[in-house]
Amino acid sequence: MKSRRTFVLIDLSAYRENLLYLMNRVSPAKLMAVVKADGYGHGAVELAKVAQETGVESLAVAFLEEGIQLREAGIEIPILVFNYVDLSLVPLARKNRLTLTLYSPAQLDELSRLALNILPGFQLVVDTGMRRLGQEWRESIQLYERAIEKGISVEGAYSHFATADERDSPLVSRQQELFAKFIEEAARVSGVKLLNHISNSAGVLTQKHDERDFVRAGISIYGLQPSVDVDTNLRPILQWKTCVSFVKKIYPGYGVSYGQTFVAEREMIVATIPVGYADGYSRKLSNKGCVIIAGRRCPVIGRVCMDQFVVDVTHLEDSPVIGDEVVIIGRQLEERITAEELAEWSGTINYEITCAISHRVPRIYSKGETI
Ligand SMILES: *Cc1c(COP(=O)(O)O)cnc(C)c1O
Repeated sequence: MKSRRTFVLIDLSAYRENLLYLMNRVSPAKLMAVVKADGYGHGAVELAKVAQETGVESLAVAFLEEGIQLREAGIEIPILVFNYVDLSLVPLARKNRLTLTLYSPAQLDELSRLALNILPGFQLVVDTGMRRLGQEWRESIQLYERAIEKGISVEGAYSHFATADERDSPLVSRQQELFAKFIEEAARVSGVKLLNHISNSAGVLTQKHDERDFVRAGISIYGLQPSVDVDTNLRPILQWKTCVSFVKKIYPGYGVSYGQTFVAEREMIVATIPVGYADGYSRKLSNKGCVIIAGRRCPVIGRVCMDQFVVDVTHLEDSPVIGDEVVIIGRQLEERITAEELAEWSGTINYEITCAISHRVPRIYSKGETI
């Protein structure tokens, strides 16, 4: 239901084009589409379905529950779980054919303690600079050897770039080297070459993939830029729309919203928007954000509340009326607001903008046609 005419519109055709573009670009490496955090706020199930239909080889999520949700929705392709999982739940991972991530000897000890005889597959994450999960490459070799001894199926190995989104970061090639050393040594000790991957979206768009079996693309599949330094030809697939809920005239000296942080200096027409921080429209956008009404940018005045905020519409030729379309992210006539801009205004990155759009905002999927 859209009683307040507020929704996120996802263009599945553009999404499919983004996937095909990336698959083609990294070939013969394969694409692992990262749909963690409910597909960066776009809706993991719908996007995973399109990825599967488009021939994407594999998916990745952060947590076990996210993988199970995809299996329950009928997704069949391999799914890698990147993050920490309470190992008492490995039978559930196995039952759902989810691959878990191995990064610590403590996990091997825990698996032995649990004395489980059938285990899911694992991929080993090697720390080459991110310092988040995983050990240095030499220790990772020892971990790999111990896993083999214990009969644990290690299906692959990966590492993660810390600075691939920065122009000419020397750490990127350093990480490439360390990871290559690990892969080479792992092949020497085991006699098998592990499936391997290192690139996130920024890496996909700036690195070569000849030596790698997969790339892990998240932000780019949604048509968003990994950073201002990495430009993409991809198309954003998400628009966020709402409508005007009220319009009124205010006079010099009138304050607006909580704390009255905006005070009118002249006669103004203001419009109320039925969206707030509970929807993921950050309070940091107070007196900073903008929306589009009648094809023109209208600045946020005063503080963003939980369910509403107010914008200045004085400059519009015709005052808007209740129910008029408002674009928060996306296009209207000649004007456009991107997730990147919202991120800049609120001091964050585009990733956080779409992830933050809460479940109170319905997601609507279209195949190219706009609503
Ligand atoms: C989130 C994540 C990715 C995807 O990163 P993008 O920058 O969105 O492409 C890849 N690998 C790992 C391990 C991640 O956690």
